[in-house]
Amino acid sequence: MRISAEEALLVATGNRGKLAEISALLQPFGVSVVSLTDLGLGEPAETEFTFAGNALLKARAGAVASGFVTLADDSGLEVHALGGAPGIYTADWAEGAKGRDFGRAMEKTWGLLDAVQAPAPRRAAFCCTLALVRPDGAEQVFAGRVEGQIVWPMRGTQGHGYDPIFMPDGYLETFGEMDDALKNKISHRADAFAKLIEECFT
Ligand code: IMP
Repeated sequence: MRISAEEALLVATGNRGKLAEISALLQPFGVSVVSLTDLGLGEPAETEFTFAGNALLKARAGAVASGFVTLADDSGLEVHALGGAPGIYTADWAEGAKGRDFGRAMEKTWGLLDAVQAPAPRRAAFCCTLALVRPDGAEQVFAGRVEGQIVWPMRGTQGHGYDPIFMPDGYLETFGEMDDALKNKISHRADAFAKLIEECFT
């Protein structure tokens, strides 16, 4: 699916950090990015069971409501010895009475790996799926991933979410210790975006 520089693109996320990151990635291609907030729209509930399902659900809702070509993403951590959990529930594992606590979510992940006596290295992957939907119904999905392992104790204060326990293959630092510029080059999101850019802009 080609996207022309004259088109406006709705980025269907309520997360301001993601919006800024995606806008910066698309800036070289001359696309005007609009947000859900700009249009007074909200995000639908993520009721599907795969990253692609949830990304498509959000992109479809945005395209129908706005009439713009719409981009949405869904991401998370898949831990191999936990059968791919937390997967689409990655953010949910951090939910608590006082809001999100990723320290607790990381402790839960390590605790479950101990409970199943998972051997080292405790393999995992960060996944990101982007969905692009046109108001005429055309759809395309781009899946990105970065493989690595879960380490303990948590290391590093950079980044967000589960970054301090994920060490990507080929590196001795966790995403939590890694410089942002390097993480943004090798991440699951970078992988998915490279595929989207190749298909839509080059
Ligand atoms: P969603 O894509 O907004 O549904 O977020 C999924 C969850 O996955 C986030 O809340 C983060 O906890 C986690 N996640 C996704 N990407 C990353 C990453 O690059 N580093 C750390 N955690 C991430």
